[in-house]
This record gives sequence, structure tokens and C-alpha cells, in this order.
Amino acid sequence: MRLILLGPPGAGKGTQAQRLVEKYGIAQLSTGDMLREAVKAGTPIGRKVKDIIARGELVPDDVVVEIVSDRIDQPDAKNGFILDGFPRTVPQAEALERMLREKGLPLDGVVELKCDEGILLDRIRNRIAETVARGEAVRPDDDPEVLKKRLVAYREQTAPLVSYYDKKGSLKTIDGMAKIPHVTAAIGQALQGGRARSQAARKAEGKMAVRSASSTRRRRPGKPKSGSKSGRKARR
Ligand code: ADP
Repeated sequence: MRLILLGPPGAGKGTQAQRLVEKYGIAQLSTGDMLREAVKAGTPIGRKVKDIIARGELVPDDVVVEIVSDRIDQPDAKNGFILDGFPRTVPQAEALERMLREKGLPLDGVVELKCDEGILLDRIRNRIAETVARGEAVRPDDDPEVLKKRLVAYREQTAPLVSYYDKKGSLKTIDGMAKIPHVTAAIGQALQGGRARSQAARKAEGKMAVRSASSTRRRRPGKPKSGSKSGRKARR
């Protein structure tokens, strides 16, 4: 299983990714975590991105594309992975597509966690309070002012990916404001539905390929045969 989790900061991507990791035995590839580790370790990449992250801006595409490509090749990702926080721009999505094609690793789906913006600020405030209560260090970008910039970055640079993947037919939108286990259940259902649908679609395509040699050619364009895949699509 290879998935992308899409959603604004605070939508619960990390929480759901951890649950999906347990459920499917796959790896969580969080670019945010990888970049924070690089900052902590003081690597050349870490030094380059430290201030960008603290300001709530996106780091350059080529930096994240390279770390994701290396990470996907690690043994723990062989069974599958969830990309959490990547891609975040259309050029990143295009680079990912090329990368996965070259590696022969097709995606199973893109899950969008949809949330009202109003709730996100509350969630980040809670996350800060919980982190402080545990005696851990708060992320420098988990700050209400920086969050506003992260939301602008999401709206302007990442939200276009919703229609990008929708057009490709791989998007599954989930209500990210429901309770955590409900969101997990909805993702599980969407993924199973997606698999069932794609199997049904493959079957229908097979039948259509046979039919196209004879009857389908005689149908008038714009009048799809009832029950066919294109007919169902046209009625939606
Ligand atoms: P969030 O809670 O905002 O989803 P993340 O932990 O995914 O946060 O990312 C934190 C920061 O790391 C981002 O604000 C950005 O600066 C940087 N970052 C993470 N992933 C990417 C990416 N794919 N492209 C560019 N910058 C990224």
C-alpha cells in the first residue's frame, strides 16, 4: 500500500499516518520529521532549511524531492509507505510521479483530510499545551503567528494538489473534523472502496475493450450506454 496524506497543518495527518502504519505495516515518510531531524543533526540540509521552517515557509522543492527519493529506497519502505507532508507543491507532485514511475511503484491513493481553518488554530494550541505538559520542546513553527503563514503556504501552494489528484481520479476526501477513530475508519473504507472500484473499473474496461470492436462504435457520442463506466461517470 502506497499512499499520500494531504491536508492543512493541524488536519491530523501525522496522527492518522501512525494509525495506518500499524494497520497496514507500512512506513510513515514525514518530510516534516525528516527535515526537523536534519536541523537537529546540523547536517548541510538542516542548516539550509532551519530558518525557512521556523518562518513557516516551504523549503525548496529539490531539497525535499531528494530526501524523499532516498527514503523510499530504504528497506522499511519496501512493504509500502504513507507520504505525510509530501508532495506540497505541484512541481513536487510531478517529481514524485516521475520518481515512482522510474522505481515501478504505483500509488494506491491520495487521502485528503478536509478541515475548516478555524479548527486548525485550536488544534495547534492544544498540541502546544500537550507538548509543554509532557515537558518536551515545542516546535518553533508551532506558534499561532507562524501557523497563519503555514496556512497561507497551504492555501497557495498545496491546496492546488486537491484538484490535481482529483483530475487523476485518485483523490479520496475524508472529513478530518470527525473524531480520530472515525477518521481512521473512514480512511480504511475509502481505501477499500477505492480498491474495489478500481477492480470493477478494470473489469468494465476489459469488457469495453471487447465491445469497442463492435457495438460501442455505433453508439452516438454523448449518449453513453446505461450501466457502462462512462455512463455512470456522465451521470455523476
Ligand atoms: P505541518 O504540521 O505544517 O503539516 P510538517 O511537519 O509537515 O508540518 O512540516 C513542517 C515544515 O517543514 C513546513 O512548514 C515546511 O517548512 C517544511 N516542509 C515539510 N515538508 C515539506 C515539503 N514537502 N516541501 C516543502 N517544505 C516542507
